[in-house]
Amino acid sequence: MFHYPHLSDLYAGLSRLAHNTLRHWLPQSCFLCGATAQQALCGACLHDLNWQEQGCIRCATQLIGTNDSICGQCLIQPPPFQRLYTVFDYDYPLDNLIKAAKYQTNLAVLQLLGDLMANHLSPDSLPDGVIAVPMHPVDLRRRGYNQALELARIIAKQLQRPLQVNACQCTRRKQPQARLSYQARLHNVRGLFQVNTLPAHWQHVAIVDDVVTTGATVRELSQTLLHAGVKQVDVWCCARRQDLR
Ligand SMILES: [Zn+2]
Ligand SMILES: [Zn+2]
Repeated sequence: MFHYPHLSDLYAGLSRLAHNTLRHWLPQSCFLCGATAQQALCGACLHDLNWQEQGCIRCATQLIGTNDSICGQCLIQPPPFQRLYTVFDYDYPLDNLIKAAKYQTNLAVLQLLGDLMANHLSPDSLPDGVIAVPMHPVDLRRRGYNQALELARIIAKQLQRPLQVNACQCTRRKQPQARLSYQARLHNVRGLFQVNTLPAHWQHVAIVDDVVTTGATVRELSQTLLHAGVKQVDVWCCARRQDLR
């Protein structure tokens, strides 16, 4: 079983503590425009973000200009998760916020994105527990933290749902998905996850991820959870890409 590295766990814990203590006291500069703000973004930049307006109720694909609530793909082949909830469509300038949270350890941005997810995802029903899409230990050591897990910590705390940090693990490193076709992505992630330990009463689980691109990864993790006996899986993501299928 893979254990979260102690040092990076300690580092992440101390950083969170310092950040949570200071963020209520110190004014900040808006990450996008530089104006004084009480959080990582000022009110105007927050308002102008790519809030998702109308998406498929199953997979959050944009459905602008139609009266449909579900996309053609989900009608033909429903995904293994019950619903994918997103706050944003992945586009400029949201991509810069995600990258700051993901690669630059920008805790103020990470906290804001987690708060926005907790406040705006509005799931139909709360799950028995929350997990994050796991990273492979090699990638985790390189980056120092798993941004999906850090978002999951913020959301689980605010929604008062239990979080299982080591519920699942990544069994191998996947090839970068960026240039693969959808079918190749599905193949690339097959067997990628393994369930370590889940509380027996967890019938309904929410998976947290920062960005869902084609959905191949969260489909695979959902399948893995369903095979392990979970009855319903939802996906909570910060942003959904709409340009790749
Ligand atoms: Zn601003
Ligand atoms: Zn759909």
